[in-house]
Order: sequence, then structure tokens, then C-alpha cells
Amino acid sequence: MIPYLDLHTINAPYEADIKQALLDVVDSGWYLFGQQVSAFEQEWAEYNGARYCVACANGLDALRLVLRAWIEMGYLKHGDGVIVPANTYIASILAVSDNGLIPIPVEPDSESYLLDPRKIAQVLEDPESSTAYPVTKGVEIRAILPVHLYGQRCEMEAIDELAACHRLLVLQDSAQSHGVKAKGTCAWSFYPGKNLGALGDAGAVTTDDEELATVIRQLAFYGSEKKYVHRFKGVNSRMDELQAAVLRIKLRDLDRTNARRVAIANRFAREISNPSLVLPKAKADHVYHICPVLTAHRDELQQVLLQQGIQTQIHYPLAPHQQKAYNEWKTLHFPITEMIAAQELSIPCNQSMTEEDVSKVIDALNAWKP
Ligand SMILES: *Cc1c(COP(=O)(O)O)cnc(C)c1O
Repeated sequence: MIPYLDLHTINAPYEADIKQALLDVVDSGWYLFGQQVSAFEQEWAEYNGARYCVACANGLDALRLVLRAWIEMGYLKHGDGVIVPANTYIASILAVSDNGLIPIPVEPDSESYLLDPRKIAQVLEDPESSTAYPVTKGVEIRAILPVHLYGQRCEMEAIDELAACHRLLVLQDSAQSHGVKAKGTCAWSFYPGKNLGALGDAGAVTTDDEELATVIRQLAFYGSEKKYVHRFKGVNSRMDELQAAVLRIKLRDLDRTNARRVAIANRFAREISNPSLVLPKAKADHVYHICPVLTAHRDELQQVLLQQGIQTQIHYPLAPHQQKAYNEWKTLHFPITEMIAAQELSIPCNQSMTEEDVSKVIDALNAWKP
């Protein structure tokens, strides 16, 4: 059996270190706002070349807190539009809606499946040309939320240039791209299955903006400047010492485990030769959180692989605009996004696979006839 992702095997190399670190936290008697979280914040900022890192409870909160902070700082107001990729995990979009902002979905690039700067430019220059226009008429676009989906960096030079030109804020959803270096403000998730995963929920924001970092830290702590003095109607969102201790251990090995994912993905790109399968094009830095193959016979392929002991997943079977939660978008059509949702199959791609496992996956894919 080749599991899609076996967290026990992923974490096994660090077992002794993790157990010791967890015991140390237990013994310390200090469980929140301690040395582990502040050391992790420092190490994660440094690793990413960012000036500040603020830890929080999960990736969705990281996204939400940045947008909320920009509202409190007066850069955004309720009803403003935020450009989001139509093809993303729904959390990216929930963070926008949750803040009373209006998500404006834009179709991805047809080769990388990532947010396409050319299509963003078109929407900015001619809002009526936007697929989402029927529901976003009159909305003032104030921000862009690129998602480094599957682990690949979006075309940030072009996106940053557009943002500068149209005076837009940029918040990167980096929940799938640990190890991809990106300038600017990034929201991170350390959900257990991510490339850098905790043993539960955890998240963080990295940024070079000192005021933003301060406001996020306050918002995440009941909106308080200091204990019992409240500047904002904040929330409670924090990373605990246990998770920070685990993340610090795994961070030391992140470049190696990412390199292993890249090597596997390179073999897939070179050796998968079945003309019935399409692989997205890698155009930029990529850490292969997800390795998709696309076929019109996706469900059949998933079954065939499973019969050969190869587990796969689908990211994601329904696009956000096809979800009941976004009923207001039900009349909209995003053909590339819908094609991806109908055809995407994620094959196993992680450091616990042997070369033999990788060969088995490649052989099974090449032998398959729809
Ligand atoms: C995992 C993920 C999130 C949410 O992170 P959580 O820690 O589960 O809240 C957001 N965006 C993307 C693209 C993700 O993959």
C-alpha cells in the first residue's frame, strides 16, 4: 500500500526529539506565550526573510487576522472587493467573506492553475469583463489574495506590479508553500498534513510591516494592547507551546523534505508519459505540497490506482463557486476552474516514499488506459 500521506511515517524521524520537547513543555508548566512560541516566531521570520512573524491558531485565522487588521488600520472597509483565485481551497475565500469583504473570483492560468496576472489586469481595467461582474457590480477592488496553490509560487512580480499600479494590498495565502520564499505579507497554516505540519492546528503571519504585525498580535489577543486594556474587539487566536516546540524541530529538516518532494515531482514530470494525463506546468519555485494529474476519467483512474494499492486524493471536488455556501455565485461559470475540479487527482508525493514507490506510481499511471 502506498498511502496518500501517512503522518506517522512523516513524523517518525523526529519521534525522539518531539517526545522530549513535548515533555520539556509539560515540565515547564508554561503552556501559552512562552519561549517555544517566541523562538518559533523568530526562526520562521528568519527562514522566510521577513522582519516579523506573529503566531496564531490556524491558517484560516492567519488570513482573517491580516484582513481584519487592514480594516482596523483603515486600509480596507466593509464591502471592498478582494481578488481571489476561483481555483483554491475555500479557506482563502472564507477569510474574505468573514471580514465583510467581497471576494472577486478570477480564473487561473490554464497551464499552472494559479492566479493569472493577465486576467487580474483585465478585471481591474474593465470590471464589466469579469465573470463575477453580475455579483460584484460597483464593488471597489482594494486587495489581491494570491494563493501559492499546490506549493507553487504565483507570478508575484507581475501581481505586485499590478498592485502598486492600482494601489492594492496583497495578502499571500502560503498555506501550501512552506519553503517557497516570497516577499510581502504571507498567511501560513501548519495543519498536520502541510509541508511543515504541527501535531494539531497552528498558523502564523509573516510580514515586513511593523504596524501590521502589532495590530495582528493585539487582535489575536482579545484586541488588547496590554492585559485588560482593549483597543479592538479582538478574538482569541494563539499557537500553543506544544505545537511551537514540534514545529521548531521539523523546521530544521524542511529544506531536505521539500527537496525530496521536488525530486519525486521531477521524476513524475519526466517519466509520466501517458497521453491521457495532463500535469500542471511548473513555472516558478515549487515545493509540491500537491502533485496533480488531470484526466476526464478521474474517478475511474482513482479506483484503478486504489486497486493497485495507490491512495490518491482530490483537491478539490467542488470549486468555491459550486458550493452551497457561495449560493450567490451559483449562476457564475469559471470553465478552467470547473475543469480542474472535475479532472484533478492528487498522486502521492512526499518524503516517506521510496524510489520504488515512486516507480510503482509512475508505472501504474503509464499502464492505465481510460
Ligand atoms: C490548509 C489551507 C488553509 C487553511 O489552513 P488551516 O490551518 O486548516 O485553517 C488555507 N488556505 C489553503 C490554500 C490551505 O491549503
